[in-house]
Amino acid sequence: MKKLFLILASFLVLISCKNESEFSLKQNISNVKKSKFAIIIHGGAGTILKKNMSDEKEAAYKAKLEEAIKVGHTILKNGGTSTAAVMRTIQVMEESPLFNAGKGAVFTHEETNELDASFMDGKTLNAGAVAGVTNVKSPIELAIKVMTDSDHVMLSGKGASVFAKEKGLEIVDPNYFYTERRFKSLQRIKNRNKTELDHDDKKAAFYDADIKNEKFGTVGCVALDKEGNIAAGTSTGGMTNKRWGRIGDAPIIGSGTYANNLTCGVSSTGWGEYFIRTQVAYDISAQMEYQQKTLKEATKDVIQNKLTKLGGTGGVVALDKNGNMSFEFNTAGMYRASMNDKGQLIVKIYKE
Ligand code: ASP
Repeated sequence: MKKLFLILASFLVLISCKNESEFSLKQNISNVKKSKFAIIIHGGAGTILKKNMSDEKEAAYKAKLEEAIKVGHTILKNGGTSTAAVMRTIQVMEESPLFNAGKGAVFTHEETNELDASFMDGKTLNAGAVAGVTNVKSPIELAIKVMTDSDHVMLSGKGASVFAKEKGLEIVDPNYFYTERRFKSLQRIKNRNKTELDHDDKKAAFYDADIKNEKFGTVGCVALDKEGNIAAGTSTGGMTNKRWGRIGDAPIIGSGTYANNLTCGVSSTGWGEYFIRTQVAYDISAQMEYQQKTLKEATKDVIQNKLTKLGGTGGVVALDKNGNMSFEFNTAGMYRASMNDKGQLIVKIYKE
Protein backbone atom coordinates (compact mmCIF):
# COMPACT_ATOMS: atom_id res chain seq x y z
CA MET A 1 0.00 0.00 0.00
CA LYS A 2 2.88 2.34 1.02
CA LYS A 3 4.66 1.43 -2.22
CA LEU A 4 1.57 2.24 -4.25
CA PHE A 5 1.24 5.58 -2.51
CA LEU A 6 4.92 6.42 -3.26
CA ILE A 7 4.51 5.54 -6.95
CA LEU A 8 1.38 7.67 -7.19
CA ALA A 9 3.06 10.61 -5.41
CA SER A 10 6.14 10.59 -7.69
CA PHE A 11 3.84 10.33 -10.72
CA LEU A 12 1.98 13.46 -9.58
CA VAL A 13 5.27 15.33 -9.00
CA LEU A 14 6.43 14.36 -12.49
CA ILE A 15 3.21 15.62 -14.10
CA SER A 16 3.30 18.93 -12.25
CA CYS A 17 6.95 19.50 -13.27
CA LYS A 18 6.07 18.81 -16.89
CA ASN A 19 3.12 21.23 -16.75
CA GLU A 20 5.30 23.86 -15.16
CA SER A 21 8.01 23.57 -17.76
CA GLU A 22 5.41 23.60 -20.52
CA PHE A 23 3.90 26.69 -18.96
CA SER A 24 7.21 28.52 -18.71
CA LEU A 25 8.05 27.43 -22.25
CA LYS A 26 4.76 28.88 -23.48
CA GLN A 27 5.44 32.04 -21.52
CA ASN A 28 8.88 32.33 -23.07
CA ILE A 29 7.45 31.86 -26.53
CA SER A 30 4.86 34.54 -25.94
CA ASN A 31 7.55 36.85 -24.55
CA VAL A 32 9.68 36.25 -27.61
CA LYS A 33 6.68 36.99 -29.82
CA LYS A 34 5.90 40.15 -27.89
CA SER A 35 9.39 41.55 -28.14
CA LYS A 36 9.30 41.22 -31.94
CA PHE A 37 8.91 44.52 -33.73
CA ALA A 38 9.01 45.61 -37.35
CA ILE A 39 8.26 48.48 -39.68
CA ILE A 40 7.53 48.75 -43.39
CA ILE A 41 6.92 51.79 -45.61
CA HIS A 42 6.10 52.84 -49.15
CA GLY A 43 6.54 56.10 -51.04
CA GLY A 44 4.17 55.34 -53.92
CA ALA A 45 3.88 52.82 -56.77
CA GLY A 46 3.68 53.28 -60.54
CA THR A 47 5.61 53.25 -63.78
CA ILE A 48 8.87 53.86 -61.99
CA LEU A 49 11.60 52.75 -64.40
CA LYS A 50 15.35 52.81 -63.99
CA LYS A 51 15.74 54.31 -67.47
CA ASN A 52 13.73 57.39 -66.43
CA MET A 53 15.61 57.90 -63.18
CA SER A 54 18.88 59.79 -62.75
CA ASP A 55 21.42 58.40 -60.28
CA GLU A 56 21.00 61.49 -58.09
CA LYS A 57 17.23 61.16 -57.95
CA GLU A 58 17.46 57.46 -57.14
CA ALA A 59 19.95 58.16 -54.36
CA ALA A 60 17.76 60.96 -52.97
CA TYR A 61 14.69 58.68 -52.80
CA LYS A 62 16.63 55.86 -51.17
CA ALA A 63 18.20 58.19 -48.63
CA LYS A 64 14.84 59.68 -47.65
CA LEU A 65 13.19 56.25 -47.35
CA GLU A 66 16.07 55.13 -45.13
CA GLU A 67 15.90 58.27 -43.00
CA ALA A 68 12.13 57.90 -42.56
CA ILE A 69 12.13 54.22 -41.65
CA LYS A 70 14.98 54.64 -39.19
CA VAL A 71 12.99 57.28 -37.31
CA GLY A 72 10.15 54.79 -36.78
CA HIS A 73 12.51 51.90 -36.08
CA THR A 74 14.27 53.83 -33.32
CA ILE A 75 10.91 54.62 -31.68
CA LEU A 76 9.96 50.91 -31.74
CA LYS A 77 13.38 49.77 -30.52
CA ASN A 78 13.10 52.10 -27.53
CA GLY A 79 9.72 50.63 -26.62
CA GLY A 80 7.57 53.34 -28.25
CA THR A 81 4.14 52.65 -29.71
CA SER A 82 3.39 51.64 -33.28
CA THR A 83 1.16 54.76 -33.46
CA ALA A 84 4.11 57.06 -32.70
CA ALA A 85 6.35 55.16 -35.13
CA VAL A 86 3.82 55.41 -37.98
CA MET A 87 3.16 59.11 -37.38
CA ARG A 88 6.79 60.21 -37.17
CA THR A 89 7.89 58.07 -40.11
CA ILE A 90 5.12 59.44 -42.32
CA GLN A 91 5.88 62.99 -41.21
CA VAL A 92 9.46 62.68 -42.48
CA MET A 93 8.03 61.82 -45.91
CA GLU A 94 5.28 64.47 -45.72
CA GLU A 95 7.97 67.08 -45.12
CA SER A 96 10.02 65.94 -48.12
CA PRO A 97 9.13 67.42 -51.54
CA LEU A 98 10.04 64.07 -53.12
CA PHE A 99 6.72 62.49 -52.19
CA ASN A 100 3.12 63.18 -53.11
CA ALA A 101 2.12 63.87 -49.52
CA GLY A 102 2.31 67.06 -47.47
CA LYS A 103 4.91 69.31 -49.13
CA GLY A 104 5.25 68.09 -52.71
CA ALA A 105 1.63 66.99 -53.07
CA VAL A 106 0.21 66.93 -56.60
CA PHE A 107 -2.08 69.73 -57.85
CA THR A 108 -5.80 69.65 -58.45
CA HIS A 109 -7.35 70.95 -61.67
CA GLU A 110 -7.94 74.26 -59.88
CA GLU A 111 -4.21 74.47 -59.06
CA THR A 112 -4.61 73.82 -55.36
CA ASN A 113 -3.36 71.00 -53.14
CA GLU A 114 -5.98 68.88 -51.38
CA LEU A 115 -4.58 66.35 -48.97
CA ASP A 116 -5.99 63.05 -47.73
CA ALA A 117 -4.77 60.80 -44.90
CA SER A 118 -5.89 57.97 -42.66
CA PHE A 119 -4.73 55.98 -39.66
CA MET A 120 -5.86 52.79 -37.93
CA ASP A 121 -4.98 51.24 -34.57
CA GLY A 122 -4.99 47.44 -34.74
CA LYS A 123 -5.51 46.96 -31.00
CA THR A 124 -8.79 48.88 -30.66
CA LEU A 125 -9.85 48.96 -34.33
CA ASN A 126 -10.17 52.68 -33.81
CA ALA A 127 -9.46 54.87 -36.83
CA GLY A 128 -9.23 58.45 -38.04
CA ALA A 129 -9.16 60.06 -41.48
CA VAL A 130 -9.19 63.41 -43.26
CA ALA A 131 -9.96 64.36 -46.86
CA GLY A 132 -9.50 67.51 -48.93
CA VAL A 133 -7.36 69.33 -46.37
CA THR A 134 -5.61 72.46 -47.70
CA ASN A 135 -3.74 74.11 -44.82
CA VAL A 136 -2.73 71.54 -42.21
CA LYS A 137 0.99 70.81 -42.29
CA SER A 138 0.73 67.16 -41.27
CA PRO A 139 -2.40 65.38 -42.53
CA ILE A 140 -1.37 62.13 -40.82
CA GLU A 141 -1.17 63.89 -37.45
CA LEU A 142 -4.63 65.31 -38.09
CA ALA A 143 -6.01 61.87 -38.98
CA ILE A 144 -4.66 60.52 -35.68
CA LYS A 145 -6.20 63.48 -33.83
CA VAL A 146 -9.58 62.75 -35.41
CA MET A 147 -9.25 59.25 -33.97
CA THR A 148 -8.13 60.27 -30.49
CA ASP A 149 -9.95 63.58 -29.95
CA SER A 150 -13.26 63.40 -31.81
CA ASP A 151 -16.32 61.17 -31.92
CA HIS A 152 -15.86 60.70 -35.65
CA VAL A 153 -13.76 58.68 -38.05
CA MET A 154 -13.55 61.00 -41.06
CA LEU A 155 -13.52 64.80 -41.40
CA SER A 156 -13.22 66.76 -44.63
CA GLY A 157 -12.37 70.17 -46.09
CA LYS A 158 -13.01 73.31 -44.05
CA GLY A 159 -14.39 71.44 -41.06
CA ALA A 160 -11.21 69.38 -40.80
CA SER A 161 -9.20 72.64 -40.77
CA VAL A 162 -11.34 74.13 -38.01
CA PHE A 163 -10.86 70.95 -35.96
CA ALA A 164 -7.08 71.08 -36.57
CA LYS A 165 -6.93 74.69 -35.36
CA GLU A 166 -8.97 73.87 -32.27
CA LYS A 167 -6.61 71.04 -31.44
CA GLY A 168 -3.52 73.24 -31.88
CA LEU A 169 -2.08 71.49 -34.92
CA GLU A 170 0.31 73.42 -37.15
CA ILE A 171 -1.55 75.42 -39.82
CA VAL A 172 0.37 76.58 -42.90
CA ASP A 173 -0.29 78.85 -45.84
CA PRO A 174 -1.51 76.64 -48.72
CA ASN A 175 1.59 77.78 -50.63
CA TYR A 176 3.66 75.64 -48.27
CA PHE A 177 2.66 72.60 -50.36
CA TYR A 178 3.75 74.15 -53.68
CA THR A 179 6.59 72.58 -55.67
CA GLU A 180 7.50 73.58 -59.19
CA ARG A 181 7.86 69.99 -60.30
CA ARG A 182 4.27 69.11 -59.38
CA PHE A 183 2.94 72.35 -60.82
CA LYS A 184 4.63 71.68 -64.16
CA SER A 185 3.23 68.19 -64.09
CA LEU A 186 -0.29 69.63 -63.84
CA GLN A 187 0.34 72.05 -66.74
CA ARG A 188 1.58 69.18 -68.88
CA ILE A 189 -1.49 67.08 -68.28
CA LYS A 190 -3.82 70.04 -68.82
CA ASN A 191 -2.17 70.72 -72.18
CA ARG A 192 -2.56 67.13 -73.18
CA ASN A 193 -6.24 67.22 -72.28
CA LYS A 194 -6.80 70.29 -74.45
CA THR A 195 -5.85 68.36 -77.55
CA GLU A 196 -8.52 66.32 -79.29
CA LEU A 197 -8.61 63.19 -77.20
CA ASP A 198 -11.53 60.83 -77.09
CA HIS A 199 -13.03 59.86 -73.75
CA ASP A 200 -10.79 56.85 -73.12
CA ASP A 201 -7.63 58.72 -74.04
CA LYS A 202 -8.61 61.53 -71.73
CA LYS A 203 -9.12 59.05 -68.96
CA ALA A 204 -5.73 57.54 -69.66
CA ALA A 205 -4.11 60.97 -69.72
CA PHE A 206 -5.69 61.82 -66.39
CA TYR A 207 -3.99 58.90 -64.75
CA ASP A 208 -0.79 59.24 -66.73
CA ALA A 209 0.09 62.71 -65.49
CA ASP A 210 3.51 61.54 -64.95
CA ILE A 211 5.19 59.95 -67.74
CA LYS A 212 8.40 60.88 -65.99
CA ASN A 213 7.62 59.49 -62.57
CA GLU A 214 5.92 62.58 -61.32
CA LYS A 215 2.49 61.38 -60.34
CA PHE A 216 3.62 58.93 -57.73
CA GLY A 217 4.60 59.32 -54.17
CA THR A 218 1.73 58.63 -51.81
CA VAL A 219 3.33 57.55 -48.55
CA GLY A 220 2.37 54.84 -46.08
CA CYS A 221 3.69 52.99 -43.06
CA VAL A 222 2.77 49.91 -41.02
CA ALA A 223 4.44 49.14 -37.71
CA LEU A 224 4.35 46.39 -35.06
CA ASP A 225 5.55 47.44 -31.61
CA LYS A 226 7.02 45.37 -28.76
CA GLU A 227 3.56 45.09 -27.16
CA GLY A 228 2.27 43.33 -30.27
CA ASN A 229 0.20 46.28 -31.45
CA ILE A 230 -0.09 46.99 -35.15
CA ALA A 231 -0.76 50.46 -36.58
CA ALA A 232 -1.07 51.62 -40.19
CA GLY A 233 -1.25 55.02 -41.86
CA THR A 234 -1.35 56.55 -45.33
CA SER A 235 -0.96 60.16 -46.55
CA THR A 236 -1.34 61.60 -50.06
CA GLY A 237 -2.09 64.54 -52.32
CA GLY A 238 -4.21 62.19 -54.45
CA MET A 239 -3.99 62.31 -58.24
CA THR A 240 -2.78 65.14 -60.47
CA ASN A 241 -5.58 67.16 -62.10
CA LYS A 242 -8.25 65.72 -59.80
CA ARG A 243 -11.40 67.86 -59.65
CA TRP A 244 -14.84 68.18 -58.12
CA GLY A 245 -13.47 67.35 -54.67
CA ARG A 246 -12.34 63.92 -55.81
CA ILE A 247 -11.29 61.69 -52.92
CA GLY A 248 -9.22 58.56 -53.46
CA ASP A 249 -8.63 55.44 -51.42
CA ALA A 250 -5.97 56.83 -49.07
CA PRO A 251 -8.38 58.25 -46.45
CA ILE A 252 -10.80 55.35 -46.69
CA ILE A 253 -10.44 52.78 -43.93
CA GLY A 254 -10.42 49.34 -45.53
CA SER A 255 -9.15 50.62 -48.89
CA GLY A 256 -6.06 52.74 -48.26
CA THR A 257 -5.39 51.71 -44.68
CA TYR A 258 -6.34 48.86 -42.35
CA ALA A 259 -4.95 47.38 -39.13
CA ASN A 260 -6.06 44.56 -36.86
CA ASN A 261 -3.85 42.95 -34.20
CA LEU A 262 -5.43 39.56 -34.99
CA THR A 263 -4.25 39.64 -38.59
CA CYS A 264 -2.16 42.42 -40.12
CA GLY A 265 -1.75 46.08 -41.05
CA VAL A 266 -1.84 47.40 -44.61
CA SER A 267 -1.14 50.68 -46.43
CA SER A 268 -2.03 51.02 -50.13
CA THR A 269 -0.88 53.13 -53.06
CA GLY A 270 -2.07 53.26 -56.64
CA TRP A 271 -5.09 54.08 -58.74
CA GLY A 272 -7.43 54.91 -55.86
CA GLU A 273 -10.76 54.29 -57.55
CA TYR A 274 -9.86 50.61 -57.99
CA PHE A 275 -8.59 50.30 -54.43
CA ILE A 276 -11.92 51.60 -53.18
CA ARG A 277 -13.87 49.15 -55.32
CA THR A 278 -11.78 46.18 -54.20
CA GLN A 279 -11.44 47.18 -50.53
CA VAL A 280 -7.81 46.15 -50.85
CA ALA A 281 -6.58 46.67 -47.29
CA TYR A 282 -9.54 45.05 -45.54
CA ASP A 283 -9.68 42.18 -48.02
CA ILE A 284 -6.09 41.22 -47.15
CA SER A 285 -6.97 41.14 -43.45
CA ALA A 286 -10.22 39.26 -44.11
CA GLN A 287 -8.50 36.57 -46.17
CA MET A 288 -6.11 36.00 -43.27
CA GLU A 289 -8.91 35.96 -40.72
CA TYR A 290 -11.49 33.84 -42.53
CA GLN A 291 -9.38 31.74 -44.84
CA GLN A 292 -6.30 31.42 -42.64
CA LYS A 293 -4.12 32.64 -45.50
CA THR A 294 -0.58 33.80 -44.80
CA LEU A 295 0.22 37.48 -45.29
CA LYS A 296 2.07 36.67 -48.50
CA GLU A 297 -0.81 34.62 -49.92
CA ALA A 298 -3.41 37.27 -49.05
CA THR A 299 -1.46 40.27 -50.42
CA LYS A 300 -0.64 38.34 -53.59
CA ASP A 301 -4.24 37.33 -54.23
CA VAL A 302 -5.64 40.81 -53.66
CA ILE A 303 -3.06 42.69 -55.75
CA GLN A 304 -2.04 40.23 -58.48
CA ASN A 305 -5.43 38.59 -58.90
CA LYS A 306 -8.39 40.71 -57.78
CA LEU A 307 -7.05 44.25 -58.36
CA THR A 308 -5.28 43.33 -61.60
CA LYS A 309 -8.37 41.57 -63.06
CA LEU A 310 -10.39 44.74 -62.53
CA GLY A 311 -7.73 46.85 -64.29
CA GLY A 312 -6.34 48.55 -61.19
CA THR A 313 -2.66 49.33 -60.70
CA GLY A 314 -0.63 49.87 -57.57
CA GLY A 315 0.54 48.01 -54.51
CA VAL A 316 0.61 47.60 -50.76
CA VAL A 317 3.02 47.25 -47.89
CA ALA A 318 1.77 44.93 -45.16
CA LEU A 319 2.97 43.42 -41.91
CA ASP A 320 1.42 40.65 -39.80
CA LYS A 321 1.17 40.07 -36.05
CA ASN A 322 4.31 37.89 -36.11
CA GLY A 323 6.43 40.51 -37.82
CA ASN A 324 6.28 38.95 -41.31
CA MET A 325 6.32 41.65 -43.98
CA SER A 326 5.18 41.86 -47.58
CA PHE A 327 5.67 44.26 -50.47
CA GLU A 328 3.19 43.46 -53.26
CA PHE A 329 2.61 45.54 -56.41
CA ASN A 330 1.63 45.08 -60.05
CA THR A 331 3.40 48.19 -61.34
CA ALA A 332 6.96 48.59 -62.62
CA GLY A 333 8.10 49.90 -59.28
CA MET A 334 7.23 50.98 -55.77
CA TYR A 335 9.38 53.12 -53.48
CA ARG A 336 9.66 50.91 -50.43
CA ALA A 337 11.65 49.95 -47.34
CA SER A 338 11.44 47.62 -44.36
CA MET A 339 13.32 47.01 -41.12
CA ASN A 340 12.99 44.19 -38.59
CA ASP A 341 13.96 43.88 -34.93
CA LYS A 342 17.46 42.73 -35.92
CA GLY A 343 17.95 46.05 -37.67
CA GLN A 344 18.02 44.45 -41.13
CA LEU A 345 17.17 47.18 -43.63
CA ILE A 346 15.76 46.73 -47.14
CA VAL A 347 15.36 49.77 -49.44
CA LYS A 348 14.12 49.16 -52.99
CA ILE A 349 12.51 50.97 -55.91
CA TYR A 350 12.14 48.72 -58.96
CA LYS A 351 10.64 45.28 -59.47
CA GLU A 352 13.17 42.55 -58.83
N1 ASP B 1 -3.99 56.13 -54.10
C1 ASP B 1 -3.80 57.54 -54.30
C2 ASP B 1 -5.13 58.12 -54.76
O1 ASP B 1 -5.80 57.52 -55.55
C3 ASP B 1 -2.76 57.89 -55.29
C4 ASP B 1 -1.48 57.08 -55.23
O2 ASP B 1 -1.31 56.25 -54.35
O3 ASP B 1 -0.62 57.26 -56.12
O4 ASP B 1 -5.46 59.21 -54.36
